[in-house]
Amino acid sequence: MTFDNTYHKLPDRFYKEVTAERFSKPELLAFNENLSDDLGLNLGSQSDIELANFFSGQTLLKGSHPIALPYAGHQFGHFVPQLGDGRAMLLGEIVNPDSKRFDIQLKGSGQTFFSRNGDGKSAIGPVIREYILSEAMYHLGVPTTRALAAVATGDLVYREETVPGAVFTRIASSHIRIGTFQYFAAKDDLDGLKTLLDYSIQRHYPESGTNPAISFLQKVIQAQVSLVSNWMSLGFIHGVMNTDNMSISGETIDYGPCAFMDQFNAHQVYSFIDRDGRYSYMNQGPILQWNLSRLADCLIPLAHSDKKKAIEMLNSELATISDLFRNEWIERMKRKLGLVSGQAHENDEKLITSWLDYLEKEELDFTLSFRKLENLLVDNDNPSDSSFKQTTEFDTFKTAWTNRLKDQDLELAIVKEKMNGVNPIYIPRNHQVERAIQQAIVGDLSVFNEMNQVLKNPYVYQPNLDFYRVTPLPEEEVTTTFCGT
Ligand code: AMP
Ligand code: MG
Repeated sequence: MTFDNTYHKLPDRFYKEVTAERFSKPELLAFNENLSDDLGLNLGSQSDIELANFFSGQTLLKGSHPIALPYAGHQFGHFVPQLGDGRAMLLGEIVNPDSKRFDIQLKGSGQTFFSRNGDGKSAIGPVIREYILSEAMYHLGVPTTRALAAVATGDLVYREETVPGAVFTRIASSHIRIGTFQYFAAKDDLDGLKTLLDYSIQRHYPESGTNPAISFLQKVIQAQVSLVSNWMSLGFIHGVMNTDNMSISGETIDYGPCAFMDQFNAHQVYSFIDRDGRYSYMNQGPILQWNLSRLADCLIPLAHSDKKKAIEMLNSELATISDLFRNEWIERMKRKLGLVSGQAHENDEKLITSWLDYLEKEELDFTLSFRKLENLLVDNDNPSDSSFKQTTEFDTFKTAWTNRLKDQDLELAIVKEKMNGVNPIYIPRNHQVERAIQQAIVGDLSVFNEMNQVLKNPYVYQPNLDFYRVTPLPEEEVTTTFCGT
């Protein structure tokens, strides 16, 4: 593996050098061999012990220059001028055989310049959670950071209780966040901002237009609109859409108090600190716009020498977000309903909303209800499926939906196949993630391993694995998840 560390070549104020803490007994919990091969890492011949030492920072891979990156961020609406990698270190960048560049970062490897009062460590729970969720997200087809490895440190960390510590290895197309721009903007460091913009464009959006700041904003808008509408089409709630947790590449990053919903509830929140529902399921669209406006604030001095003109130009980009988002959300929801061809229909949004209203009112499972819809598509003229409660709302939806499907004049088998390609059977359900974590804490990785296996094919039925398909019993339901500290 050859490192090529371009971020380390940026000016000194873009990073701080860092070394990992010494751990008692690093042990490999998981290593993602497929991902390692895709990245061209050539680690196949390494022993588990060597891998555990690499991916807990005990042994440095050749060419690695570990650094921690500064960033700022709005946390639940409040600006913090300096956050930064408080428990993470970037080992370096590698370029895969397809010439794509990726960061390899350790999370939980000890204190850095940016740790503030934190211990720089991770408990095993958040490591297991991020491993399962980020890989599941990838296999569901959503842009995301990925899990390369998880290592138990052999040491304890102190949270509400004492728990085993672990280190997570994350792969990302970069770790540049909206908050990275905010960090330099808050310091009035115009040179820093310019350098960061040039670097970001070169790394993520090289085909930029005549005004780099404006075309960069356009690209980030497109990437993040696509990301958040994709999350919502799968019932995903990120939970901490702070500006420091929004990557400019449009990848899902920072799996903290996040969750895939079971029962559909438009106002669902999981994070125990999100009392006002700022990051609820339905609020993710408006928050996306709010966050992108914070990025636009940083770009003012780069967009035009005349401040008024710059603001005008940036505002006209921001003004496109709500329509872009609404259209993309409708497109994705239409595909879930099998509406895959033909003209946009003015009533499609109503149809989608009536279905979601029905799910919400009857407290139905988001994922399974979409998947089961195909059972209604039979050739007889009056299909019925007893597994859906036959209310007036349901009948109205069903009639409108089946009529709309007839309009598009596609064979039912094709419609079903397309629906099954976007409506998963398996999602990382919270109660099972919890079970995987509880078992891992006592040294049993069986649920963790099996879940990772099942979630590699979320759209395909897998016999004898109903455990991972079913919804939680009332007593198993997880209503709160915690930040990944
Ligand atoms: P997060 O909630 O994971 O997005 O983290 C928010 C900020 O808190 C980031 O700057 C983290 O680096 C920092 N942080 C979280 N946990 C710790 C910890 N255990 N030690 C040091 N810094 C931390
Ligand atoms: Mg974060």
